[in-house]
Amino acid sequence: MKKLIVILLLAASFSNLFAQQHKTQNVIIVTIDGLRWQEVFRGADSALINSNDTQDKDVVRKNFWTADVTERRKKLMPFIWSAVVEQGQLYGNRDKGSKDEVANPYHFSYPGYNEIFTGFAAPKMNTNEPVTNPNMNLLEFLNKQKGFENKVATFASWERFTQILNAPRSGMLINAGFMPLSVPGMNDRLQHLNELQLEAPRYISDSTRIDFLTFEFAKTYLKQFKPRALYLSFDEPDDLAHAGNYKFYLDRVHQEDAFIRQLWNYIQTNPTYKDKTTLILTCDHGRGDVPLTKWHDHGSDVAHSEQTWFAVIGPDSPAAGEMTLPVTTYHKQLAQTIANLLGLDFKAAAGHQVGDPIKSVTTGK
Ligand SMILES: [Zn+2]
Repeated sequence: MKKLIVILLLAASFSNLFAQQHKTQNVIIVTIDGLRWQEVFRGADSALINSNDTQDKDVVRKNFWTADVTERRKKLMPFIWSAVVEQGQLYGNRDKGSKDEVANPYHFSYPGYNEIFTGFAAPKMNTNEPVTNPNMNLLEFLNKQKGFENKVATFASWERFTQILNAPRSGMLINAGFMPLSVPGMNDRLQHLNELQLEAPRYISDSTRIDFLTFEFAKTYLKQFKPRALYLSFDEPDDLAHAGNYKFYLDRVHQEDAFIRQLWNYIQTNPTYKDKTTLILTCDHGRGDVPLTKWHDHGSDVAHSEQTWFAVIGPDSPAAGEMTLPVTTYHKQLAQTIANLLGLDFKAAAGHQVGDPIKSVTTGK
């Protein structure tokens, strides 16, 4: 009997912790494929600007270079280095002791996204092929929770999210690659985006849509349908890094920072979302750093490509700015961290190992 009381008390304090204290009612997750922590925290790299990987060096210097690192990174990502650093938290600046990493040993996209959304650095997920992911993911879990049914949506540039998030099993909205959007009652703007993307250049590949279209779909859907969980997945920075095009890589990162600002400005001026929505920003893997051309690549054989970053801004996350705690956070911890922000326990329902929540997201220390 005593045991039962203890269990009941524990259960009560658990639900108290998760269900009552949180203010977060909605989450928006944005990933930028292959964006290095080096650019996030240090801004544009002078060695790369001066290398053969950068065309129009004068333009790039004018747009993104200044000697002072805090000014330089703000030139590249002004939203991150204004609203997010002032009101949120940023993890992964190794120059200040904060380390963020993927736990999977592969350091490429599918394993990276699998880790973020299933909370599990599954050894079997060593592929970028169209293999349907057997593991339960956070978004699928959310889509089954009371009040979240059909209020979970994914917009991704890369078509592989159909498999990564297991569209057939989850049944939730996943619009990925050049897939037309088909939602009952969708407005003319969304219809128009369906037409527009047929005419868009496919300069990355037939499987990857240009990010601005993915953004426009996500933003327009958000405004019309007010999802409680929205995932927006950008891809171009990774493609441009593989191509060794530093100018375009920086340009896209700068543009995507501005896209995220648009989302946040909308969130904070709309009564459905204002002060009850947490925004999480991260990436799927890091990239190499030295020698110079290693920034093109990532993978188990590319040193330091496990090194990543993430950021959070929302009503349950104390404004701590750049984290300097000498701890390593892992992307397998993000799923349960996000679930807890919503007052939910993904770990108990997942059916596989899930990383522990990152406490500092809600304590600030
Ligand atoms: Zn890549």
